[in-house]
Amino acid sequence: MPRPSKYVSRSDLGWGSSPADAADPRSGLVIHYDSVDQGLAGKEHSACLSYWRDTHAFHTGPSRGWVDIGYSFMSCSHGYVIEGRGLRRTQAAQPGGNSSHYSVTLATGPSDPITPEQINAVRALRQWLMEPDTSIAGTVLGHRDFVSTSCPGDRAYALVRDGTFAQPPGPVTEVHDMLGLRIGSTGEAVKLLQLRVTRAGFGDALGESGVDSEYGPATAEAVRLCREYVGSRALPGYGDKMTAHAVDQVEAAVTKRALEGAVGDAGQNAPDDPSRS
Ligand SMILES: [Zn+2]
Ligand SMILES: [Zn+2]
Repeated sequence: MPRPSKYVSRSDLGWGSSPADAADPRSGLVIHYDSVDQGLAGKEHSACLSYWRDTHAFHTGPSRGWVDIGYSFMSCSHGYVIEGRGLRRTQAAQPGGNSSHYSVTLATGPSDPITPEQINAVRALRQWLMEPDTSIAGTVLGHRDFVSTSCPGDRAYALVRDGTFAQPPGPVTEVHDMLGLRIGSTGEAVKLLQLRVTRAGFGDALGESGVDSEYGPATAEAVRLCREYVGSRALPGYGDKMTAHAVDQVEAAVTKRALEGAVGDAGQNAPDDPSRS
């Protein structure tokens, strides 16, 4: 069966096959996170691979001493499934379910966004694992369903509970956080971004398609213009993804435009405006 289209394998990482004990998990997929914010949604994908290598080193190092990285997989902010122990291995992830369930970490912290691409990667992983080769149940749980832990964080656990991860891969509309969006993103969060850039006065840059919930070059240009408007250098590429600075500057552009509008209104009402008679 084909793997998810955006997949980083152990061999891509330069790792041999997992030395962990064999298992045949069938009961479903368990969602995890990192207890510390990682900011990976605002970084290049290479940062996810560095994170995964560091996690491997930590899990196999003196403080954990495990035979391998603890999780079966990671689902990154950019929509990649990254292999951990991979298929048919017991894990060091959720005691009580280490050989009955597969594990996937979002590598997010409590305040990190969960991107639409990341949700889709979990969905693609689940769908793949449900195919006949591995034929897991469609059940999606959170780490806290097994033991008392904050994992996978309140945001991700809400998505576990409302069934978001148990949908087929496709457009994601459940995320309303602009941080982490980039060219190629779709859905309600992109619509929100397009409404914000329009409110900031750059709706024309969206072109004929307007507010269409799709982050393409026109949306990127509108974001870049917002950033330029509030004093950023706004070089080419500055609208291509919603980093923390980009979100901050789009919001600042909305505020600046609103203040200018208020000043303009006051000017129109001024009785001694020499341009009016
Ligand atoms: Zn966990
Ligand atoms: Zn990534």
